[in-house]
Amino acid sequence: DAKAKGRNRYEFFSAALSEQLQEVRTLSAQLHESLVNNEFELLYQPQFDLMTGTITACEALLRWHPAHGGENVSPAVFIPLAERTDLIVQIGRWVMQQACGQVKRWQKKGINLRVDINVSARELVEPDYFARLDACRLSHGLTPQDIGIELTENILIKADNDVLEALKQQRQKGVEISIDDFGVGYSSLSYLRQFPVSHLKIDRTFLKDAPSKAYDSALMEAIVNVGHKLDLLIVAEGVETEEQARYCKELKVEYAQGYLFAKPLTVDAFEALFAKTSRGNQ
Ligand code: C2E
Ligand code: MG
Ligand code: MG
Ligand code: MG
Repeated sequence: DAKAKGRNRYEFFSAALSEQLQEVRTLSAQLHESLVNNEFELLYQPQFDLMTGTITACEALLRWHPAHGGENVSPAVFIPLAERTDLIVQIGRWVMQQACGQVKRWQKKGINLRVDINVSARELVEPDYFARLDACRLSHGLTPQDIGIELTENILIKADNDVLEALKQQRQKGVEISIDDFGVGYSSLSYLRQFPVSHLKIDRTFLKDAPSKAYDSALMEAIVNVGHKLDLLIVAEGVETEEQARYCKELKVEYAQGYLFAKPLTVDAFEALFAKTSRGNQ
């Protein structure tokens, strides 16, 4: 009868739920262990200047290779998990250290590039986040221009005065601050003015069907126009085709990042690509 059916369904769901919870717990425990065991790696995805074709910066993207856990887990899965606990703070510290070290190693090889790191909300509310960023740069002999930060709109919207003030100070020192995945979060263009940011990274969903779809093109063009009016630099995310790259160029988008140019790369692969692109432009 219906009652029994309902109960069965309940049991089914609760079993599925506790299985999921168990999985989350296992994954969290593994993540924690992995931090200690050095199972994380940063890949670097170049950002290209669309006018000159040269690499001007890159984004550090985290990869997790669990030693015992078999296949790799996407950051789209494990970052949200880590964000539920303090683990993201520890991971973020590792990323910051690693990125600073990499910029320095590249500088010693004559590769002068900014590395942008992704920052989670939970990291920003740590009262010493920016002091640590300053200290990390300093201890590696870096300037504020060497490490950029990427924040989503939702983080900025929810940021309290202390965080906004700290961001303003970073900006005044010359730190490049990007709004990541722009257009899919809170998205009030009028808010843009209040944020101390330098770059807008337009979410790849806007580019996906532009320029063939009028609706997407209209949005894309509106974002670029407003961004430029506010003196922001624009980065197109997820550029996968020549047509998309041409379209971005037409719109006077400054920078592009995407599989058309390069996937996130290991340090060695990045250096090889960098050598190739800078040779081609001399
Ligand atoms: P994100 O910051 O928006 O990074 C861009 C994502 O798009 C990356 O996914 C990148 O590999 C992918 N991508 C780049 N070009 C293309 C393209 O042409 N087509 C498509 N389809 N995708 C492209 P990834 O590496 O899987 O990272 C996913 C998200 O995980 C990131 O999105 C970011 O939010 C988060 N994440 C990654 N590393 C870190 C980190 O160190 N700290 C924090 N807090 N979050 C991170
Ligand atoms: Mg990002
Ligand atoms: Mg993004
Ligand atoms: Mg994202």
